[in-house]
Amino acid sequence: MRVVVTGGGGFVGSHLCEALLRRGDTVCCLDNFCTGEPENVAHLRGAPRFRLLRTDVTEPFDVPGPVDAVAHLASPASPPDYHRLALQTLAVGSRGTENALRLAQRHGARFLLTSTSEVYGDPEVHPQPEEYWGHVNPVGPRSVYDEAKRFAEALAMAYRRSLGVDVGIVRIFNTYGPRMRPHDGRVVSTFVRQALAGRPLTLYGDGSQTRSFCYVDDLVRGLLAMLDSDRSGPVNLGNPSERTVRELAELVLRITGSPSRIAYRPLPVDDPTRRRPVINRAVEQLGWMPRVPLDEGLRRTVAWFATRSGPPLPRIPV
Ligand code: NAD
Ligand code: UDP
Repeated sequence: MRVVVTGGGGFVGSHLCEALLRRGDTVCCLDNFCTGEPENVAHLRGAPRFRLLRTDVTEPFDVPGPVDAVAHLASPASPPDYHRLALQTLAVGSRGTENALRLAQRHGARFLLTSTSEVYGDPEVHPQPEEYWGHVNPVGPRSVYDEAKRFAEALAMAYRRSLGVDVGIVRIFNTYGPRMRPHDGRVVSTFVRQALAGRPLTLYGDGSQTRSFCYVDDLVRGLLAMLDSDRSGPVNLGNPSERTVRELAELVLRITGSPSRIAYRPLPVDDPTRRRPVINRAVEQLGWMPRVPLDEGLRRTVAWFATRSGPPLPRIPV
């Protein structure tokens, strides 16, 4: 397949580009690097089936040659990024998604939208099945991201229903792994960076809020399965193993052997209290299930961060 990956220079996108190349596909990676890093795809740049185009997808764009699939990942994704890039986040969720949909329409290509568990907001239904419509504050600080993704889902479904574009939507739950930016502000990257540096782990609120963390390799298998299917979704992709954020902090401390303490900080506005995917649909429709347990995924992530950060690891228990 010839696949266009928007946001291919980001954390998830770079792993997806790699996986597509590994199975023999041709990849055109589009990114403006507002939150991604050229370094994430630097090792792919010599590959004959890989092409990187520095592109802002909020402006109309085309790519050379035929296209079989468009995987639309472009969007700031961490809370500090989308707060800092509020207007850009709304623009890429709306105009950027429409430009990517138009590309798919012109080429008769499959279109994959990477939506988010944030469409469920602070959920009143737990765990979250795809049938749940969500509980989002439309004017709160997180709304630039949540509502952009909700709009993107509506737009993608309208392109499917009205224009016959082969659209598939996945809703991704918290994903972690190598190539997260150490300072992106997300909880896993922050705790790992702080633990490796011997700095206090900044725990927001009392740490009783929950998340379900999925290792990036598992997520990428799910993205490929959805890309290859003709399902419209939405399909949740996430690891149903739910943890409190406090448990995560303790696990990171154990894995790194760090002497860091936990420092409590105020809970951000509208921070969802709990989140856990129902993944029956992914299992039944895509034959997908996460495989990497949190402690194993964290070990791999810590090992990767350790090769990049200055201060040496105090100790990694095996
Ligand atoms: P990321 O910030 O690492 O990657 C996003 C990429 O999109 C970056 O490389 C960025 O430069 C690029 N981008 C942003 N706006 C752009 C624009 N206008 N034009 C071109 N490129 C642009 O984030 P990520 O974690 O890799 O997330 C990838 C996708 O998955 C996002 O759409 C995000 O909403 C979704 N998602 C991720 C998670 C997660 O836990 N990582 C959870 C839910 C959904
Ligand atoms: N969090 C935290 N300390 C940090 C960063 C985040 O305690 O340094 C908390 C945050 O308040 C939230 C959870 O960890 O409850 C997950 O945050 P993240 O930004 O990774 O993802 P999201 O809130 O978008 O699920």
